[in-house]
Order: sequence, then C-alpha cells, then structure tokens
Amino acid sequence: MSTPESERRVVPLIEEAALAARMDGLAAEIAAVMPAEFTLVALLKGAFVFAADLTRALGRAGCHPRVEFMQLSSYGSGTVSSGVVQLHGPAPEGLAGRPVLLVDDIADSGRSLSFARRQILDGGASEVRVCALLDKPSRRVVPVPVDFVGFTVEDVFVVGYGIDYAEHYRQLPFVGVVE
Ligand code: 5GP
Ligand code: MG
Repeated sequence: MSTPESERRVVPLIEEAALAARMDGLAAEIAAVMPAEFTLVALLKGAFVFAADLTRALGRAGCHPRVEFMQLSSYGSGTVSSGVVQLHGPAPEGLAGRPVLLVDDIADSGRSLSFARRQILDGGASEVRVCALLDKPSRRVVPVPVDFVGFTVEDVFVVGYGIDYAEHYRQLPFVGVVE
C-alpha cells in the first residue's frame, strides 16, 4: 500500500513489541499500589490506544477498573504547546470518594496532567495517581507527580500508538519520530 502524501515516513522509537511487553510490567506496578477498586480516567484523544491496552493488562493483573474519559487540549494542531490547557466537554462524574488513576500519553510540560489532576481532585476523588506512557522529564515546566511511567524519552516530538500530529499517525502500532 502506498503512503498518503499527508503522512511522511515515521522512524520507530519504541517498537510495537516493546510497547506490548511493557504493559504487564506497568500494570503490575499499578496493581501493587492502587486499591482493588479504582477509576481509570484517560485523557482524550492521545491516550486512547494506551488506555485500551493498559486496561486489559490491568485486568490480567487482577484489577477491574471503572473507565472514564476527559478531553483536554494543549497543543492545538502544531508541535508547540500554547501553554493554555482547556477542558472540552464535561468533567468526569462519579469520582467522589473514589481513588483515580489518571492516564495520559505523554508527560511533557506537565500542564495537562496538572490541570486534569486538579479537576479530578475538585471532583472529590479520594486520591489521584498519575500514569504516563511516555515521560519527557527535561521538558517539565509545571511539577506534577508521575507515579507510573512506561518509557522515559528525550525531548523529541513523537507520533503513533494513538498519538497524533494534526490528527495523522494515530493508527501506527509503534511510537516514532516523523522524518
Ligand atoms: P503537557 O501539558 O505536558 O505539555 O502536554 C502533554 C500533551 O501534549 C500530551 O498529552 C500530548 O497530547 C502533547 N504532546 C506532548 N509531547 C508530544 C509529542 O512529542 N508529540 C505529540 N504528538 N504530542 C505531544
Ligand atoms: Mg494529550
């Protein structure tokens, strides 16, 4: 199949097999710390593929989380963050008194996770732990505790495995860098 003009070649950074292999380890780390009943809140859209794989790995680790979603925006359609995080649509309901695992694709400046964490605490969650597939610690501007990290990466702009550039590349089974 030919590559559409709109999508350039993507050089794999984290292969499909490495992503799959990491899921059960990550789920085991989470299962060891989280109470048996918790709500997984995934940030849309970028975390949707990760959240789907992590949810099934959590099931294999003996957890049975409730699943909720929350949509934020911080990047617009470019590669440079606007620095302004907004909530699109409703805040997740039914969090009062419950422990929450907040799941995102990438911890970059930390603004999105910090904002989402505040929303969830304002919703009455009893505790919030944070899980990011990718952590870019060198990019942090706003401090936020990232309790569970899939992979620590350098300051590179990545796509794939649910993560887009202008709505492209989400379908790639690996995380990579656009050439
Ligand atoms: P933060 O609020 O931490 O600066 O940004 C986190 C969000 O920015 C991520 O959830 C993701 O949507 C976006 N982001 C951060 N780094 C990258 C990247 O390398 N590639 C893409 N496509 N999005 C990124
Ligand atoms: Mg995001």
